[in-house]
Amino acid sequence: MPHFGLIGRRLAHSYSKVYFEEKFRALGLQDCHYDLYETENIGTIRDFLKRHPLDGFNVTIPYKEAIVPQLDDMDPVAREIGAVNVVKVRRAADASLCLVGYNTDAPAFRDSLLPLLQQWHREALILGTGGAAKAVAWALRRCGVAYRFVSRSPEGQGRMGYADAWRAARQALLIVNATPVGMYPDVGDTPWQHPEVLTAKHLCYDLIYNPSATRFLREAALQGATVQNGLDMLHRQADLAFDIFFAPKP
Ligand code: NAP
Repeated sequence: MPHFGLIGRRLAHSYSKVYFEEKFRALGLQDCHYDLYETENIGTIRDFLKRHPLDGFNVTIPYKEAIVPQLDDMDPVAREIGAVNVVKVRRAADASLCLVGYNTDAPAFRDSLLPLLQQWHREALILGTGGAAKAVAWALRRCGVAYRFVSRSPEGQGRMGYADAWRAARQALLIVNATPVGMYPDVGDTPWQHPEVLTAKHLCYDLIYNPSATRFLREAALQGATVQNGLDMLHRQADLAFDIFFAPKP
């Protein structure tokens, strides 16, 4: 019975189980299951897989980078980004496991962003520096958009602090929230303290999809900015993950 799942620390916000199980049903894959696995510590993934014999799994906050050293192989996109959100589990005849990591966040974000990009979106600010932020950076490189990371730890090349970001937003007309700030249940929070600098030329993309309109997006929309939440990206990355889970053995 094929079994898949999502591993993360807090999963109350996640739509993944509903999305995958609806897709299994729609495709007549009644014997497939998808479950959520909340864990305080990802620990040794092979021990976890002995208790929960999954055929593949998704990885979310805060384990997308922590999982990397435990994998046997990574596809080139995941390797370039250094973060993984999909792991395919292969079992050899002797029951040993081979774990291969993929990053479907990056192409999903790129494909979701492309129809929204205008010729004036040449510079971007990426809020956060975690796994999702790195996937966004990969996509922006592919789209020819220059970017800087906005971080609580602004030291380091290509980074700035939140105190300077609002000034940079005069040129950087694409702002991507790749932090969990504003996500359910903390829906009153926002990573962007200066909505007044946003204009109708700004495109504000929040990777969060629960709530569907974060405070960041609501305040940006009031300034006339184009806004996009993370639901389209979520569906795209899940569809790509599905294809990986069900790809025939090489
Ligand atoms: P993560 O690894 O935990 O990283 C988030 C980054 O956000 C951190 O590196 C940190 O950067 C910053 N951050 C964390 N807490 C913060 C706080 N209280 N205030 C300000 N900044 C904070 O998380 P992630 O996996 O990259 O995911 C980030 C968000 O994207 C989550 O909301 C996740 O649900 C969402 N996401 C959505 C999709 C989708 O398909 N729609 C896909 C992937 C991720 P600094 O320390 O540098 O400030």
